[in-house]
Amino acid sequence: MTVPHILLHDGHRIPQLGFGVFKVPAAEAERAVSAALELGYRHIDTAAIYGNEEGVGAAIAASGIPREELFVTTKLWNDRHVGDEPRAAIEESLGKLGLDRVDLYLIHWPTPARDDYSHAWERLIALREAGLTRSIGVSNFRVPHLERIVADTGIVPAVDQIELHPAHQQRDVTDWAERNDVRIEAWGPLGQGKYDLFGAPAVADAAAAHDKTPAQVVIRWHIQSGFIVFPKSVRPERMAENIDVFDFALDDLEMAAIDALDPGDGSGRVGAHPDEVN
Ligand code: NAD
Repeated sequence: MTVPHILLHDGHRIPQLGFGVFKVPAAEAERAVSAALELGYRHIDTAAIYGNEEGVGAAIAASGIPREELFVTTKLWNDRHVGDEPRAAIEESLGKLGLDRVDLYLIHWPTPARDDYSHAWERLIALREAGLTRSIGVSNFRVPHLERIVADTGIVPAVDQIELHPAHQQRDVTDWAERNDVRIEAWGPLGQGKYDLFGAPAVADAAAAHDKTPAQVVIRWHIQSGFIVFPKSVRPERMAENIDVFDFALDDLEMAAIDALDPGDGSGRVGAHPDEVN
């Protein structure tokens, strides 16, 4: 399975499709990530708060896959933005992952009421300079948060990882990202199973037309939209299904029909509002 790579503005490349491990219990993480690596996934998205970095690291170590072929992301949790905490946090994550650097380190949420994300961003810039991560980015940042860190530091994040699926496309953020050469990572790409995305005619009809599953159609829509995506499943048959999306293409009409699933008023959000996580 050949997954295309996307070039980040800092010159590094990221596999456009990966494996996300949110809510994968620590005890299951090694088995799930080992299965994903076996199936051809080379990009793993975890976070300190997921509590499963050790399992991810164990699977990586056991795989024997050369480090250069893997892309590993982890994230700074909300209570560690201050002082020198970002450095302590990434060192803890690296220890659990068994790595001497990650490929991408993200500020997990802006926590705007705490007003410390710009400081955290300065510290991530230093972590990159120290070689503890190759690329740096943010997650759940809305346009005002993005503009603030760029104004304060002059450094543009390589990615913004945001909730994005057909009913919640966040076009204000994706437009800003496009203008500023920031790549979008789509979390909850399948809507976390929280609404009937797979039953929407735009998705179901395309699935029937291409002899693919609705999940594959939605993942393909992300790929063709240019988003980086890492659907989560702990079931090997679904992991295999979710990476098997490179042998068909949605046409312009099919893409437009899925684009039209966003009601446009923010009501399609299934996760927390970034301004309210503090
Ligand atoms: P998702 O949209 O990937 O949904 C996962 C759920 O979809 C699974 O639990 C499963 O029930 C179902 N599913 C998966 N494959 C399927 C298939 N082929 N057919 C039918 N159902 C299928 O949601 P997610 O896990 O929240 O998002 C993916 C990743 O994004 C996470 O694992 C994590 O790495 C990341 N994430 C980041 C944030 C953040 O704040 N930065 C928040 C949530 C998730």
